Amino acid sequence: MHTLRQYQVPLQRYMALMDLQERNEKLFYKLLIDHVEELLPVVYTPTVGEACQKYGSIFRRPQGLFISLNDKGKILEILKNWPERNIQVIVVTDGERILGLGDLGCQGMGIPVGKLSLYTALGGVRPSACLPITIDVGTNNEELLKDEFYIGLRQKRTTGQEYAELIDEFMNAVKQNYGEKVLVQFEDFGNHNAFELLAKYRQTHLAFNDDIQGTASVVLAGLISGLRAVGGSLAEQKFLFLGAGEAGTGIAELIALEMSKQTKAPVEETRKKIWLVDSKGLIVSSRLESLQHFKKPWAHEHEPVKTLLDAVKAIKPTVLIGSSGMGKTFTQEVVETMASLNEKPIIFALSNPTSQSECTAEEAYTWSQGRAIFASGSPFDPVNYDGKTYVPGQANNAYIFPGFGLGLIMSGAIRVDDDMLLAASEALAAQATPENFKKGMIFPPFSNIRKISAHIAANVAAKAYELGLASRLPRPNNLVKYAESCMYSPAYRNYR
Ligand code: NAP
Ligand code: MN
Repeated sequence: MHTLRQYQVPLQRYMALMDLQERNEKLFYKLLIDHVEELLPVVYTPTVGEACQKYGSIFRRPQGLFISLNDKGKILEILKNWPERNIQVIVVTDGERILGLGDLGCQGMGIPVGKLSLYTALGGVRPSACLPITIDVGTNNEELLKDEFYIGLRQKRTTGQEYAELIDEFMNAVKQNYGEKVLVQFEDFGNHNAFELLAKYRQTHLAFNDDIQGTASVVLAGLISGLRAVGGSLAEQKFLFLGAGEAGTGIAELIALEMSKQTKAPVEETRKKIWLVDSKGLIVSSRLESLQHFKKPWAHEHEPVKTLLDAVKAIKPTVLIGSSGMGKTFTQEVVETMASLNEKPIIFALSNPTSQSECTAEEAYTWSQGRAIFASGSPFDPVNYDGKTYVPGQANNAYIFPGFGLGLIMSGAIRVDDDMLLAASEALAAQATPENFKKGMIFPPFSNIRKISAHIAANVAAKAYELGLASRLPRPNNLVKYAESCMYSPAYRNYR
């Protein structure tokens, strides 16, 4: 840590950490676990984003497996080249929509590498069981195509049938090589592919998309625990989203599902309590024809509304969620309107990085006279307002996916069911204590993440057994203890 802290530039810390991961894996994980709050922003967002942008010029040794269009017909052979045989989690990207940074082509590899190191550090999956993969189908990023250090194919992205065939060959090869129980996490695919790939491969594989489902699960956990502070049930709320992409519609669907579980009303009914605004305004039925298919379920009867402020006034939501990637969109007027409609407005500004947050924590508390229940995608420092300290929550996906993955692995699950995502949300929400609430925190402190992950894993595994999707039999009695016993720990063995 002393050596790392000598580097002032975050990217240098990243490079030093990657070198350490290569040189002494146990020490790397020991540091990551013991200093998770300090090092998470280095191995993951925001620094990993910069690392991906400059990946070609900081490249040392390949981490993970690159599969390109030129490998068509040989993907199984290439998978067999990977030195480890017993793989439990694959994180795969095609680099089209890296974080909020857009198309970084095959330089997106930093993301699968970073996410998998969190699977190990936070969720206890063995490092040797993790396989980062980048599928290189070209890039539409002109700057990268011209960059002399770009490490990928120098061509425009392939789409359509050629793309679908390559992904299909890859998914088949994965199953052939690693069997039914390997978890495939899709990460940072463009949203024109992400929804379709998930819908298709969740039927045949143990597949999960963190941008859609992981986000949904962590935000639902925040709502469940936030409502304990506000009072009232989920089904009594009315939701308005700014942003109807992977995050927005993913969260909306999981909320609708949970409301449907709680009230026994069909999900087609509960969806009607959720409204979304995209770049063209409120999603309403008159727009149905021209909407992308993943937005269609949200096109309710209403006259067209152009701006967010007008949508807030028309819909009168109790919960406002920002998932547009556009900063400063929760203006003073928007927040004040929310605060005039609700005693305790729930306001989540999820867009990353910090500069793109819909509003800051300070703005949310100040403009609502300290009444808002606030969480954000990027971290904000505690805020002092009117003599009281408020600690904003961070709806970080890293709360969910490591424990979620561990739960799937330890139960030998063969498919991901939405009920497992609900189980993960409930487990996370249950870890937030009344002491946390008093400070305004709706998520438990991240320093307890290994314990939190074990509880999430146990709840997810319990659901897998209940649904008959678990293949590891018999079911262990105490699933939390079992989860803890499965977790990798970076300790040296004593041979004496
Ligand atoms: P995405 O799939 O690209 O979706 C973005 C959505 O925002 C689209 O529906 C887009 O509208 C809409 N939009 C863009 N500009 C807008 C504007 N000015 N007014 C209204 N709507 C606008 O992206 P995503 O994956 O959902 O991610 C969105 C944001 O959420 C990112 O900033 C990301 O960092 C953040 N995020 C946070 C978390 C977390 O907190 N844990 C997790 C995941 C993502 P069109 O559909 O009309 O283009
Ligand atoms: Mn992502």
